[in-house]
Amino acid sequence: PISLFLVPTPIGNLKDITLRAIEVLKSADVILAEDTRTSGMLLKHLEISRPLQSYHIFNEHKAVQKLVDRMKKGEVFALVSDAGTPAISDPGFLLVREVLAAGLEVQCLPGPTAFVPALVNSGLPNDRFVFEGFLPHKKGRKTRIDSLLEESRTMIFYESPHRLMKTLEQFAEAFGPDRQACVSRELTKLHEENVRGTLEELIDYYQNNTLKGEIVLILAGRPEKIKEKKYQD
Ligand code: SAM
Repeated sequence: PISLFLVPTPIGNLKDITLRAIEVLKSADVILAEDTRTSGMLLKHLEISRPLQSYHIFNEHKAVQKLVDRMKKGEVFALVSDAGTPAISDPGFLLVREVLAAGLEVQCLPGPTAFVPALVNSGLPNDRFVFEGFLPHKKGRKTRIDSLLEESRTMIFYESPHRLMKTLEQFAEAFGPDRQACVSRELTKLHEENVRGTLEELIDYYQNNTLKGEIVLILAGRPEKIKEKKYQD
């Protein structure tokens, strides 16, 4: 039996909820939510009425053991985050780890997450990639960027609109202005936009265009010389 389901929710378009997500949410004893107000609205829209309990990063450590104890007694929980797949740049990892350590079972449903469509829309190689999530804002930021200088796989970053320009500029300096990249904004929403080009072109573009909404930044890996030759033949 599964004690904890991780249930992905839409990242914009409400139609992206899966039939199975609805089924699991309806049958859970308790729905754990990163933000009970945000999730409450979604559940209302889906006409799902189950007990809702707050579970966010700030109370993770304290909350985890209590929840595991309840699971041991047979309660089934569903964890949702504000948007996308729980535990992906969102709370959840610690709970999953502790549930497994207690000998109980977890199951993450497949469903919406921002980085997969962003990666595929970018047109950059996706046979191998690395998910970097959010870069550190201040401390450790440069070290993190430097650690990626030799990376040959396509890199995925979550970014906020007010920090994007700074990141593009730092990337241009570190990886060179000609490195290919893609900015995916407002995925699945009315104003979805995927802007592809070199870092320099993206900087130019965003100097002249307003920048709002949620963003995934995709950065091409360092070109591998031998591979390039093979494709040219
Ligand atoms: N758990 C989520 C997932 O599975 O993608 C990610 C949560 S993280 C706190 C939020 C970040 O995801 C945003 O800052 C943005 O980088 C990205 N994101 C979420 N929704 C998005 C969307 N509709 N379009 C572009 N990026 C999005």
